[in-house]
Amino acid sequence: MAKVSEFFGINVFGDLVMKERLPKDAYEILKSTIKEGKCLDSSIANTVADAMKEWAIEKGATHYTHWFQPLTGITAEKHDSFITPTDDGHILMEFSGKELIKGEPDASSFPSGGLRATFEARGYTAWDPSSYAFIKDKTLCIPTAFCSYSGEALDQKTPLLRSMEAINKQALRIVKALGYTDVNSTNTTVGPEQEYFLVDKELYDKRPDLIFCGRTLLGAMPPKGQEMDDHYFGVLKPRVAEFMRELDNELWKLGVLAKTEHNEAAPAQHELAPIFTTTNIAADHNQLTMEFMKKVALSKGLVCLLHEKPYDGVNGSGKHNNWSISTDTGINFLKAGKNPSANKLFLVTLAAVIEAVDKHQDLLRIAVATAGNDLRLGGNEAPPAIISIFLGEDLTDMLNAVANGVHPDDVNREKMKIGIDVIPEFKKDNSDRNRTSPFAFTGNKFEFRMLGSASSISDINVMLNTMVADVFVGYAERLEKATDVEAEVNSIVKDVVANHKRIIFNGDGYSREWEEEAEKRGLLNLRSTVDALPLLKTNENVALFERHGVFNRAEIDSRVDIILENYTKTIHIEALTLIEMINRDVIPAITAYTNLLCETVNNKNLIRVDSSVEYELIKRLSAANKEIFSLTAELKSAVASSERSKDILEKATEYRNNILTLMADIRKYADSAESVMPKSYWPYPTYGDLLFKI
Ligand code: ADP
Ligand code: MG
Repeated sequence: MAKVSEFFGINVFGDLVMKERLPKDAYEILKSTIKEGKCLDSSIANTVADAMKEWAIEKGATHYTHWFQPLTGITAEKHDSFITPTDDGHILMEFSGKELIKGEPDASSFPSGGLRATFEARGYTAWDPSSYAFIKDKTLCIPTAFCSYSGEALDQKTPLLRSMEAINKQALRIVKALGYTDVNSTNTTVGPEQEYFLVDKELYDKRPDLIFCGRTLLGAMPPKGQEMDDHYFGVLKPRVAEFMRELDNELWKLGVLAKTEHNEAAPAQHELAPIFTTTNIAADHNQLTMEFMKKVALSKGLVCLLHEKPYDGVNGSGKHNNWSISTDTGINFLKAGKNPSANKLFLVTLAAVIEAVDKHQDLLRIAVATAGNDLRLGGNEAPPAIISIFLGEDLTDMLNAVANGVHPDDVNREKMKIGIDVIPEFKKDNSDRNRTSPFAFTGNKFEFRMLGSASSISDINVMLNTMVADVFVGYAERLEKATDVEAEVNSIVKDVVANHKRIIFNGDGYSREWEEEAEKRGLLNLRSTVDALPLLKTNENVALFERHGVFNRAEIDSRVDIILENYTKTIHIEALTLIEMINRDVIPAITAYTNLLCETVNNKNLIRVDSSVEYELIKRLSAANKEIFSLTAELKSAVASSERSKDILEKATEYRNNILTLMADIRKYADSAESVMPKSYWPYPTYGDLLFKI
């Protein structure tokens, strides 16, 4: 086995390869293109394309593709081979600059929410040179943005790049105003921790719900769940360890900085954390990570479940979005340092995040709204649907002190006086108490935990970047005008504490009391996608995105439609799957077992042996079967009726109110039947098997 350092990034057309293979001037132009986030200069496009092709062919590639991220949540690729026929019947392997820069996939079937009239259904893809090309499955993949011909974003990458530009612009003003004159650019950075479940492929194949929906729609709880906490960080089972090792290897070849792999709270649940990087690269890498999780799992006879709530009553899966900003000179805006209260950049950034999150709670909730994630948010082990910020006691005290006029340099002394330990650097809270917060300050970054495990990280970072950029605008104006910058920083902190402290909550975010308290504080509690999505269209939100060139109104309208459509389609498929499982498997299974019991009762009666147990079971199972039967018929007609709604919000609302409720009712009866039936009669592998037989 080769050393990791020898194969890390081996399938990436990265900086070293570029330097090696491009003429010096072309390399320099490409480098500055990447650094400035510009489009590739057409004068060097052919040179770059040629070098890329030669490199890819040497690595065995035969095809190339513009790799993009339509609004389906996953990546798309259409493969073209390099071959071009020659006059004499041979072929050449060709790839031009034009083909590198721009593609025209016939991608009319991707969701556009009405942005593309069908007569001009073709969108185009454009290379994002800031994300390196790579080889996967003998195919050269070129990371691209996907837009309509009139330039509207049809994908996840375009708005993300726009939002990065927006925040860079304002962050630069802030650092300049604070005296960092040598800074030329800033970047938001993200490290997304990815949770997932593994399940045995043979068992998976026996569950239509897992196959069609990625989650179980039925299943009684096993005697043992996660209550012993014996899985979290536990020893890896050999098969899982092998999976993780191979996954790491595959990701490393693609330059993905996979760093930590461990067991999560639920049985069969695991996590992969990469080392953080620039946001759009982190987003690309996270897509690759999810893709390879599925692929490598299959090669080990496993299936990787990325769904947010594959099992009821068991921890769901999220994606922790660790976010910060840093300068090209290596300064992290959120690194407090030894004397945080005197660190102006830290204070201003902290204040901006607090203000932005308080003002735009709706946007954070919207960014995580999917049918799958709704099942997880508000569950007993997941972040609630209420947005709040955890700062920890030390940091909260410090902010309050500054706001109360204590001079920053005296904050530590003040704290000693009242008997609290001197604040060293703000270490991440090691205890578990902040795990219940949806948005926590964790040492040198903010960790947003509401994102679902199956989602792209793009949307949430579009929101974070844009809303912080918007608050930065106001701060930059104040700081640029100020004669005493330090006093202005303190006054910003003071204003934020005065106006936005309601968003700070250091207590137990899962408790009942918090829901009540949050309501008193006037915080939003948008329980489902249907509650959250319409808020994206408010004039205020449209203005915010237009101000920063991130979305226009048409793009926002289309996104709302696409998300709601996705929501209803997901639940629609789930309902149909459940109906089929019930009618074809569950009802017949209950009937068959009841029949066995009936025969037993008859036989026992012949020999005059007590048959009261069997009789009781027959009664219970028959009653359950009857409920299941009639509720399923009801579900079927409710689906038909919801499908007739013309308005997408109305339809989505019906799905949430009627369909999900009926599905839950059916499940209750089916699960109770399962728990009194022999395994041999139940048509599906049990939760116990799915969760513990790995
Ligand atoms: P934890 O104990 O929660 O795993 P880590 O320090 O290991 O905390 O970080 C978790 C994630 O946060 C990792 O992906 C890490 O790379 C990322 N991270 C660390 N610093 C930053 C930063 N400045 N910006 C963005 N992400 C960061
Ligand atoms: Mg974490």
